Amino acid sequence: MLVHTIKEVREIVKEWKKQGLSVGLVPTMGALHAGHKSLMAKSVEKCDRTVISVFVNPIQFCPGEDLDKYPRTLDADCELAQSAGVDLVFAPSPKEMYGEGHILSNDFLTYVIPPYFYTDKLCGKSRVGHFDGVCTVVNKLFNIVQPDFAFFGEKDAQQLIIIKKMVKDLNIPIEIIGCPIVREESGLALSSRNKYLSEEDKKEALVLSKILFNIKNCYKKGITDVKALKETAFTFLNENHNLEYLDIRDNDTLDEKTVADNNSRVFIALKIKNVRLIDNIMLGS
Ligand code: AMP
Repeated sequence: MLVHTIKEVREIVKEWKKQGLSVGLVPTMGALHAGHKSLMAKSVEKCDRTVISVFVNPIQFCPGEDLDKYPRTLDADCELAQSAGVDLVFAPSPKEMYGEGHILSNDFLTYVIPPYFYTDKLCGKSRVGHFDGVCTVVNKLFNIVQPDFAFFGEKDAQQLIIIKKMVKDLNIPIEIIGCPIVREESGLALSSRNKYLSEEDKKEALVLSKILFNIKNCYKKGITDVKALKETAFTFLNENHNLEYLDIRDNDTLDEKTVADNNSRVFIALKIKNVRLIDNIMLGS
């Protein structure tokens, strides 16, 4: 079932809660693919009822980013959600979420701001304010749906770590479940933004997973010096790849490592033409 208003979601979930049913939430921005479907499948398996939200959240886009051209495919999203066993699709408008005139600056809207230590690095460094927008909308979705569980992909590992931190710091009574990255057979991590890539660009985009798999291989062979691990990336990079960052950090605190261990995660972001792609891998699993 598809609904567009907060009121409808609240009424439906209230009815489920009355019956003692557990509720899972999968927040998304739509243009759904098999990565999103794996989150839905996890929720359907674990919870009695599953809600997904489809909302391209304007306040998590920075000036000059792809808010206007972000793919919007609600009909196909509903079909995919149904095939995954989802009970409710919540697809609000910006006006429904942020009100009349939706004035989105933090002069006029209450924001949830995650700690600077977690946001001044990796994606937060170039996307200033992005995680403020993410935490604010995720909080709103948590308050609207009031799920027992919420499912997020490791594809956006910094986001997952920040949301876990927010839930802990604000005592939000929801269990956050992280789900593994779904990749194409080629190794390319699925992403809604892959739609911007030509077939040729997609081949270039394999550089992200190649660098990550290679670093993990080197770690498994016994190399733990982070500088040495990072240097292995340079053989894969060429003039078509505009590297934004390649970092090895603690998977809980995002502290930078000098010596890698099993709780280290390798994070990479780079641009192919103007398309910004991210990927990551745990070293210890
Ligand atoms: P998005 O629609 O891009 O905001 O993503 C919604 C959720 O799906 C987030 O928790 C993402 O981390 C997750 N997700 C996106 N791509 C993948 C993927 N390839 N594998 C697993 N989860 C993913």
